[in-house]
Amino acid sequence: MVSAGQHNGTSTENCQICHGQLEYFNLGRELSCFRCGIKETANIVCPNGHYICDKCHGEGLFDTVKDYVLKSKSINPLEIAEYLMNLDNVPMLGCENAWIAAAALMSALKNEGTAKVTDELIVEVLNRTKKQAIGGYCGLTGVCGIVPAIGACFSVILGASCSKDRETAIVMSVAGRIIGTIAKETGPCCCKNFLRKSLDESVKMVKEHLCISLTIAREDNVCKYVDRHPHGCRKEKCSYYKNT
Ligand SMILES: [Zn+2]
Ligand SMILES: [Zn+2]
Repeated sequence: MVSAGQHNGTSTENCQICHGQLEYFNLGRELSCFRCGIKETANIVCPNGHYICDKCHGEGLFDTVKDYVLKSKSINPLEIAEYLMNLDNVPMLGCENAWIAAAALMSALKNEGTAKVTDELIVEVLNRTKKQAIGGYCGLTGVCGIVPAIGACFSVILGASCSKDRETAIVMSVAGRIIGTIAKETGPCCCKNFLRKSLDESVKMVKEHLCISLTIAREDNVCKYVDRHPHGCRKEKCSYYKNT
């Protein structure tokens, strides 16, 4: 049994600076970002003390994701997401994958037309997602960054806020369904699986709550990131794994 506060072990994920094996702590410590110097409480560091803050982890990529989805013409969110996941600078794990989830869903909705999604609203969703999608917190608090990502899409489209009633209830129930979907896919967490499953579920919820039909994910979607997973791919437990 693991007691609260104990060292939470190592992973096979590597430090972006020295490629050392990252260590996870149950109790956060004050660390300085190796890149920008910001001091903050964090739970992931390499043995040489390199810590990279979430802002620096996704540096440059935010604009890449944004620029691509503003130009895309697809109404298939998974197709948009697969293109972005395949870019060289998208990490295997990390909340850059949550930005992709939000961006892909909003872009597909804009291209479908009914929801009257503008470029400005897509940027709004991305900015909201960035505030709550924080790398590693899927395990640390139970909230994967894809949850606020999809929640932000519905919130912006429905105009939800604290003062609203039904709109906010729908956004919360959408967030609940996303976390429920992802919880069935853990062991270890995989941002690629979470992103694909969440978009599948989102397309269903878009139909239910907004009466909009987006193109459904491809049935033959085979994951090509099996060897890149630092904690080890779930293989047969994952529906995107094909043993070729
Ligand atoms: Zn390092
Ligand atoms: Zn930084």
